[in-house]
Amino acid sequence: MTTTTQPHLPSSLLQILTCAQCKELVLPWLDPTIGPVYDCQPVCRPLPLDARELEHQLHRALAGIVAMDRAAQVLERIVITDASPSGLHLIWKVNLPPRPQPPATPPPSEGFVPPRPRSRP
Ligand SMILES: [Zn+2]
Repeated sequence: MTTTTQPHLPSSLLQILTCAQCKELVLPWLDPTIGPVYDCQPVCRPLPLDARELEHQLHRALAGIVAMDRAAQVLERIVITDASPSGLHLIWKVNLPPRPQPPATPPPSEGFVPPRPRSRP
């Protein structure tokens, strides 16, 4: 396996990855002994976050909701505690203006046709 400093995350997503402790960006870098990792500049953790594990958890968190390259359009921030499944906190952008609730509508006047009894041959 080859190690690389290139993250497997879109650059737009790297702008919203923040540390839960210091609120600074969590950026990818290559640790000479561990390999590809993510960490904040103040280095809040005793060990940096494993890049593959963090990227895997991000893929899992966003799968079926939004594409990775479009996630920064709908997410305000991704706050990272650790690279565990519960270590990511997604903060969504809420840009919907308040709207009045639509008026209630009466129930439909027609119901379903009751099933006919089956005739056995
Ligand atoms: Zn930090």
